[in-house]
Amino acid sequence: MANNSTLKKRTLLLVILILLPVCLALAAAVIVLSLRLSALSGKLTAQQSENKGLSSQITKINGEYSSLESDYSKLQNEKADEKKNPPKVAYLTFDDGPSKLTGKILDALKANGVHGTFFVIGLNAEKNPDALNQILADGNVVGIHSWTHQYDVIYKSTANFMSDFNELREYIKQVTGVDPTICRFPGGTNNTVSFHYDKHIMQQITPMVEQAGVKPYDWNVDSEDAQTHVPTKDQIVSTVIRESKQYNNAVILMHDADQHQSSVDAIPEIVSQLKALGYKFSTLSNKTPTVMFKPS
Ligand code: ZN
Repeated sequence: MANNSTLKKRTLLLVILILLPVCLALAAAVIVLSLRLSALSGKLTAQQSENKGLSSQITKINGEYSSLESDYSKLQNEKADEKKNPPKVAYLTFDDGPSKLTGKILDALKANGVHGTFFVIGLNAEKNPDALNQILADGNVVGIHSWTHQYDVIYKSTANFMSDFNELREYIKQVTGVDPTICRFPGGTNNTVSFHYDKHIMQQITPMVEQAGVKPYDWNVDSEDAQTHVPTKDQIVSTVIRESKQYNNAVILMHDADQHQSSVDAIPEIVSQLKALGYKFSTLSNKTPTVMFKPS
């Protein structure tokens, strides 16, 4: 019996000795596996959150893409519209000022919500020292016309012309701090008065002022307000409207001079009628479309 019991104990011990390392190995395997599992699940969570971030970025990019697409198609439509109906722009220009009426012209422009371009005479600017700055302060543009406006002096030689031109350019710079970028030749590029003094002067001075960085402008609509018999307000309005209709870029010649009250009075109706015809108003610059006569 005793032997039998000892045998049983020994057998049990043997079994335990055999099973213990197996159990320990199994336990270790379970621990390693569970650690790996937890590491993998951590990675999975990180990956999932990264995926979420990426998918929200994709949604955002898709949104931006479709908004760009709609902007592009809007631009295409606008371009097609512009081809069918090119924009119409009117430029009110006033030569020979400043004068006693400059303030009234500025008031009329302001009251009608538009701006104008003033091609000034130096000798008149000297007599109205604040006028140039008032013109600019209201958002209008000052261009070079002439210091003296004396045809027999300025058109006698290129040297005379450029000296008169530069005198006014310097004066405008000094008084306003703004260097003008546009000019208008007295009488326009195709004036024939200059022929009396120099037949070729207009062909010569045009590239000279361009080289000096100033763009010359003529006009395609003459309000005819500078005729000897000063026209009435109604005559000026009807001339300007009739002529402007022919151009998408209407550069309108008017005068800023003491005797031209009817030009001032015509401004509100010119603006309202041209606006009704679809014109916007702007000022000339060295970037606006060229309107130039061919020198005669
Ligand atoms: Zn003039």
